Amino acid sequence: MTQITKTEKDFLQLLREQSAYQEAINLAQWDARTKLPKKGASQRAEMVGFLSEKLHQLQTSEKIAYFIDALSDKTTDTVIRRSLEECKEVYERNKKIPHDEFKEYVTLQSKSEAVWQEAREKDDFALFQPYLEKLVAYNKRFADYWGYEDNIYDALLHHYEPGVTTKTLDNVFPKLKTALTELLKDIKTQDAEKDNILIHSFPKDKQRAFSIEILKKMGFNFDAGRLDDTVHPFAIGINKNDVRITTRYDEMDFRMAVFGIIHEGGHALYEQNISDALLHTPLASGTSMGIHESQSLFWEIFIARSKAFWEANYDLFQTYAPDYFNGISLSEFYEAVNQVKPSLIRIEADELTYSLHIMLRYELEKALLNDAIKVKDLPNIWNEKIHDYLGIVPKNNRDGVLQDIHWAGGDFGYFPSYSLGYMYAAQFEHAMKKQMNLEDVIRSGDFSPIMNWLKENIHQYGMMKKPMEILQDVTGEGLNPDYLVQHLRTKFLTM
Ligand SMILES: [Zn+2]
Repeated sequence: MTQITKTEKDFLQLLREQSAYQEAINLAQWDARTKLPKKGASQRAEMVGFLSEKLHQLQTSEKIAYFIDALSDKTTDTVIRRSLEECKEVYERNKKIPHDEFKEYVTLQSKSEAVWQEAREKDDFALFQPYLEKLVAYNKRFADYWGYEDNIYDALLHHYEPGVTTKTLDNVFPKLKTALTELLKDIKTQDAEKDNILIHSFPKDKQRAFSIEILKKMGFNFDAGRLDDTVHPFAIGINKNDVRITTRYDEMDFRMAVFGIIHEGGHALYEQNISDALLHTPLASGTSMGIHESQSLFWEIFIARSKAFWEANYDLFQTYAPDYFNGISLSEFYEAVNQVKPSLIRIEADELTYSLHIMLRYELEKALLNDAIKVKDLPNIWNEKIHDYLGIVPKNNRDGVLQDIHWAGGDFGYFPSYSLGYMYAAQFEHAMKKQMNLEDVIRSGDFSPIMNWLKENIHQYGMMKKPMEILQDVTGEGLNPDYLVQHLRTKFLTM
């Protein structure tokens, strides 16, 4: 490392302070979602609010503006330079919104989530409608403040997936839609209830023990992480040496916890393997929502739902599973865990139909932001579209337009990242296969070559590289849906 100047040192000190607040917020949130007694919730929310406000002040302070100005053109240190870019991005994003407007919006967000919950329970879209209208209006104003080139939706997308635009998605999604709907037709004739054989009691502690064995094989470091119970599973990095994953158990369906833990474990490996050089900077985190999702899906779908994985681990599974599972052959089991079944609910969707759920949401969000449709018409448009995509229609809005929390929290532009994650993961798998016989590696039971490849090519960089840079460097090309289509065709047409 080159000798750093006094100003650079002071800047790094400020970044440390910011990281400390961020860590405290993440820790308090992890606790709120895993351990916090019910009565502690409201005071906790207030505490997180104060810490967030303090972090926000630091990120938009005169001091940070001074460092951005004084160092951006001068520093020769690459980590400092990228950190400055990131700080500048956050600074400008926040500064462009008038303070009062932002405060009103935060209040609206928390109110809307509560109203959404009630609307969902009562299956009453009209209750939620005025809130959603306001949320859309705010997001439109914010997008105008932030600026964009072609489409207003780009300003929102940029927040989750820098480098991906409406143009990118409009180019990729139609191809993917055609390929997926055709494939779905081809395999629809298969038995749609194959996975019923998996529904059987399987005690929670045994599910947990099996999952921990798999997590260890994946390379999850329990000295730098933990696994706890929750209602809505998630992974959260306090820092790279303290990465926590959570899960929920269904004692009649082991798939929820086993595949859920592997999924969250994939997120966690990303955080645990970030380079030490990025500690205490804003770069010590996954580079985008989509790349993060590619890491969880890589393990959940491309590894843990592969034939080779179960060839290597079915015996181990059987040592934890009740005797009942001895009666299920490996190939029956493999087909059952890969059941394709169009579902109304996004989070229950399989790997083939998942992206169709996302495209539907993308089309609606883009149309809302561009004033092409009205909020009040959403339930009808939703039902028409889901019928077009999946051939099924919900009986109520609870299983339709009211199912996701994202819009209630004002998160527009987030959904595409999920589908991007699938496409990135397929592209990474293709690149990995050029360097190793992936099936043999999976079958060997020693996943370390996979973990090392991901660490070397993706994880270590944290936010040093932007998502499109990672994709280009690793695969030699930009976003390309063909690899995902190829993966799905190979897998499902030969099953
Ligand atoms: Zn995920």
